[in-house]
Amino acid sequence: MKGMSRAAAIYIHVPFCLRKCPYCDFYSVVWKNGWVELYLSALLAELDLRLDSVDGPISSVYFGGGTPSLLSPEAIGRILTRLRQLLPFASEVEVTLECNPSANARADFFRALLQAGVNRLSIGVQSFQDLNLKKLGRIHDASEALRAVREARRAGFENVSVDLIYGIPNQRMSEWLRDLQLAVSEGATHISAYELTVEPGTALSKWVEKGLVRLPGPDRVAEFYLRAHELLTESGFEHYEVSNYSLPGFRCRHNEGYWRRTPYLGLGPSAHSFFRNCRSWNWRDLRKYCSLLESGRLPLESKEELSSSQELTERVFLGLRTRDGVEIDSLAPGPELPARLRAVAEEYREHLELDDGRIRPTALGMLVAEELALRLIRAALEENGARPEPSGFSA
Ligand code: SF4
Repeated sequence: MKGMSRAAAIYIHVPFCLRKCPYCDFYSVVWKNGWVELYLSALLAELDLRLDSVDGPISSVYFGGGTPSLLSPEAIGRILTRLRQLLPFASEVEVTLECNPSANARADFFRALLQAGVNRLSIGVQSFQDLNLKKLGRIHDASEALRAVREARRAGFENVSVDLIYGIPNQRMSEWLRDLQLAVSEGATHISAYELTVEPGTALSKWVEKGLVRLPGPDRVAEFYLRAHELLTESGFEHYEVSNYSLPGFRCRHNEGYWRRTPYLGLGPSAHSFFRNCRSWNWRDLRKYCSLLESGRLPLESKEELSSSQELTERVFLGLRTRDGVEIDSLAPGPELPARLRAVAEEYREHLELDDGRIRPTALGMLVAEELALRLIRAALEENGARPEPSGFSA
């Protein structure tokens, strides 16, 4: 196995939530104490079985979910200790834990997480307005959201990310700007500003289908996006991915790895992995996940080997979501930009910049990243006399 093709980033899916939010399609089950020990043993067993796909030093570990902050700091510490026993960690390893504002989101809890080895928190605030939190079906209120951010900073977390959502039914622009301002003034070093989207199979999608809920149209959504860009960049944040902003030096390294297609190992039910040009994913079923591992088997549901045109498609779709864009050489090797690609860049002059050997989307470009990606991929493949192939990213 070639060293370069193995993972140096680890994602851990924690599949528990106190209650399911109506818009969410991440895999989680309602929290039951009895499941935690089973889950932890299965997770550690999966790590043991998949060690050969990891190549240290580990640069990032990300606890996502679900609601990882439902696990105790001891449980998080146990997982991190096991990882450290098995693998070398980079000296500046980024260890993120997603956390929901709730009763346990207090300074003591956060201090214990710091001691366990977590050094970055991503807090699922979503809104600092009670009414909007209700519309989202969240179980926390605005005061708990504010308290969670304050207590995290008070406990000594220097790297705190805040998730916020726009495009909530009847959300006012003034409410959205206030949410962003509060995240900035409370000391967030990173802000994820997500559009509320309708995922198939969720309660929200049924409500929308039945006409019970109406989401804002694309022009209004674009307005929310552009006002966030304006406010946050004026406050010193870099808009480095469609939905992500950071103060200098605080980009999320783990997520950057996804967008740059560096290898990662995903552990836990529904977790995805990527290495050796192959994507694989675990069963989205906690019971099945635990029982397979109990009998010494891998919990893999399936995998997909990427062809070269799928690889190109992925690289462009992911690259154009980020300010770093795509390397021109990876689309069309050679000293000159081929005519078809030049024509796209010319047509989308307000959306794309050519700079330092890369095609980078502007803020307007990131807003239409999928459309741009499709145009560039078609142009690149036509240059090479090939046709696009479907991949998880084709629109
Ligand atoms: S949005 Fe977060 S808290 Fe809500 S159900 Fe999904 S993973 Fe759980």
